Amino acid sequence: MRPAFAASSPILAALALSACAYNPELGRQQMTIVNDASLAQAGEQAWSQALATSKVSANRAANTRVRAVGQRVVEAAGLGQRPWDYAVFEDNAPNAFVLPGGHVGVTTGLLNLVDNDDQLAAVIGHEAGHVVARHAAERQSQTLTSSLVLGVLGAAAGSSDAARAISSYGGAGAKYGFLLPFSRKQELEADRLGVDFMQRAGYRPREAVILWLHMQANGGPNTPQFASTHPSDAARIQALEAYIAQRGW
Ligand SMILES: [Zn+2]
Repeated sequence: MRPAFAASSPILAALALSACAYNPELGRQQMTIVNDASLAQAGEQAWSQALATSKVSANRAANTRVRAVGQRVVEAAGLGQRPWDYAVFEDNAPNAFVLPGGHVGVTTGLLNLVDNDDQLAAVIGHEAGHVVARHAAERQSQTLTSSLVLGVLGAAAGSSDAARAISSYGGAGAKYGFLLPFSRKQELEADRLGVDFMQRAGYRPREAVILWLHMQANGGPNTPQFASTHPSDAARIQALEAYIAQRGW
């Protein structure tokens, strides 16, 4: 009899081989050692925590609006094959998230910030872009390679934004990085995918630029969480404009 642990090395080898895969949506190789099932499970957990710890808006029109716009965008993103949950959270800070596994959350603060449904679609499209691009899995995989992960998260929890994210939307969300800043490269990818999705869904891609300008104007010393984790500087907005122009939109 071979000891049980002997079987684990081929598994680890297979895991290592499958870790770096070509993502056709991005046109690049990507390292993800966290599988979709565990990511979806973490998304479920984050969603339950968000529902348990945050106040869901009783405003029917707002909830209907987010459901209608969100559904069009997730279908355009190719994510329509599973059922999606939508909720509007009572929170003045403009914020939105799309969780792997099928959940979209938007705050009342974000609904106050956007001028129209196109801009709402831009935010949801951008967040759906992070999901399609498997950015959380990619970052989590990168983080797992470092034994510093707990120390980093612990330190981050001391800062107000991260502490707020963890208390508002749950430890799982923070742990899996749904609510931590993405890299600049990932932000640019999500911007492009976001406008692709909103255009496909019938919204006006140019409104995405105005949305990010609003976000930029929202920056400052008391930067709300979403703006601080999605820094929309001039160069980033320019890149988005150039992409929209290149596509002829
Ligand atoms: Zn982003």
